[in-house]
Amino acid sequence: MSVVWLTLPRVDETQVLPAAPALGDTPLAGGHPRAPDGSEPSADPAGAGAPSDTVTADSAPQGPARAGWSLSPSRAADFLTCPLLYRFRVIDRLPEAPSPAAARGTLVHAVLERLFDAPATARNPQAAAELIAPAWDQLIAAEPDLADLFGDETERETWFTQAKEMLDRYFTLEDPTRLEPAHRELQVEAKLESGLRLRGYIDRVDISPAGDVRIVDYKTGTAPREEFEARALFQMKFYALVLWRTRGTVPRMLQLIYLGNGELVRYAPDEADLLATERKVEALWRAIERARDAADWRPRRGRLCDWCAHQALCPEFGGTPPPLPTPEELASRYARPRPAPAEAAPHMADIADLT
Ligand code: SF4
Repeated sequence: MSVVWLTLPRVDETQVLPAAPALGDTPLAGGHPRAPDGSEPSADPAGAGAPSDTVTADSAPQGPARAGWSLSPSRAADFLTCPLLYRFRVIDRLPEAPSPAAARGTLVHAVLERLFDAPATARNPQAAAELIAPAWDQLIAAEPDLADLFGDETERETWFTQAKEMLDRYFTLEDPTRLEPAHRELQVEAKLESGLRLRGYIDRVDISPAGDVRIVDYKTGTAPREEFEARALFQMKFYALVLWRTRGTVPRMLQLIYLGNGELVRYAPDEADLLATERKVEALWRAIERARDAADWRPRRGRLCDWCAHQALCPEFGGTPPPLPTPEELASRYARPRPAPAEAAPHMADIADLT
């Protein structure tokens, strides 16, 4: 029997899945920043400030998971890609210049979120196109540096055309006139038994009249080749784990919408999947804690170095990382908001060991 994902009234997210400010989450006014492939934003290092119980790297109590620290799929991918990159983003909180690809991902996500504010019958490609300019204005207001993203007017026009093409492609993959999302840009958080908090943003959650949950993620990149598909699904399983742990129900469907090439990837998880994901996340977190305890954040050179914003500070490229911040400096960094960086590298397609 097929599941119908229709016409459920939108729910107040904060009543359903309350989530405290993340350790460093900074949603932009016009949407949160995206990796170039449209993956989950730079959650942990991007900064609105840690909760008051945040414990810094050096002052934190030792144990399987320290109060105040949390993990998002993007940061998990950072650590797997390169521990030094994780350090630069989470511990040092180094700024990163926005990239056109990441900004386009943020813009497309913002438009798709707002599209569902319109009455169902008015959700068409024309309506989406008309949302581009105001969404862009709002992004610029939140992060003025974005205004300097383009070398010239031709580059700018090409960029907007590509964004519009992605939005047009969306309508070939779904019919938004037949959808009424339960949540959009939903911030979620779950605390595992170990004490580790998992956080992230889910692009869209649909709930069928029968109560089946579908997690939807928009990607502005292209679908991964078959052998990397499981890797791409890790982020979705991470979110499914968070929803399962907060709501007690295993989501029925995980759906990735690749707007770069117009493909859908769907996966139906089960409890065993999510338990395995939980074990992998815990193992990863232990590895992060070991690195933190030893102050050992080794660079791992790879093809993603081409996109890394921190090559100048990386020993692999002749650079020297800055001294690690003291506990006081770290506490201070997390106590003040910081402009959210555009992410430099496609993360989720490159998770090496988690899936
Ligand atoms: S340049 Fe490469 S090795 Fe160096 S920090 Fe960045 S991702 Fe890691």
